Amino acid sequence: MTKRRPLVAGNWKMNGSRTESAALLDGIKKGMSSASKAEVAVCPPYILIPLAAEKLVGSAVAWGGQNLSAHESGAYTGEISGPMLRDYGCTYVIVGHSERRTLYGENDAMVAEKYGAAQAVGLIPILCVGETLQEREVNRTEAVVARQLDVVLGKHGIGSFRNAVVAYEPVWAIGTGKTATPRQAQDVHRFIRSRLAARDKTVAESTRILYGGSMKGGNAGELLTQPDIDGGLIGGASLQAEEFLTICRAAD
Ligand code: PEP
Repeated sequence: MTKRRPLVAGNWKMNGSRTESAALLDGIKKGMSSASKAEVAVCPPYILIPLAAEKLVGSAVAWGGQNLSAHESGAYTGEISGPMLRDYGCTYVIVGHSERRTLYGENDAMVAEKYGAAQAVGLIPILCVGETLQEREVNRTEAVVARQLDVVLGKHGIGSFRNAVVAYEPVWAIGTGKTATPRQAQDVHRFIRSRLAARDKTVAESTRILYGGSMKGGNAGELLTQPDIDGGLIGGASLQAEEFLTICRAAD
């Protein structure tokens, strides 16, 4: 069985002044052990990416974007492209976060375009999938997650998952303080891996699948010991260095 290196990625969303972010970056950098088994990344707002690059260069912490344009350049006012993120040393970029899907109308096809645009410039997309509470209540969790994955698989193929990370984020658990139970999360993670394995077992075994949704220092341990949970995508708890570092240590 392939050993998957855990990944803990912080999604700062639209939070943080320059001063607060500098302190947060310093705190994370200082608290990270160079012997850490888990890989750690932060995804600040675009405008703070140069600061992250300046602070984190040469450290064990990677950085990435929260979104990107599907286009490389041109007349797309307000957008940021994959080549721009690469230019500032980003390793990762989140695509298809539920807030992008629900607040900004990103559908599966648009998410698949962005996934491809990221990989075209060597960024590793963190592809977010997950069901709403209503979908869970009518037993549509697997159908929704399968649809979200299949659009990307159909467009880019299973081979593309060698350079991608999947994040299972139940929408009802994001920013709500309600975490999926380890069992609920593991069941969906296993389903995602089996969906990938139906196309290629080796790729499925090596693809990291993160859990996201109100993960904190206090609940990370039991989630991260599930066999198909390979790390976390962390929102609120990534804004406090100590809390974030506790999750990183749990992933070790
Ligand atoms: C997220 O936004 O990806 C997330 C998981 O947020 P939170 O940890 O705050 O639920």
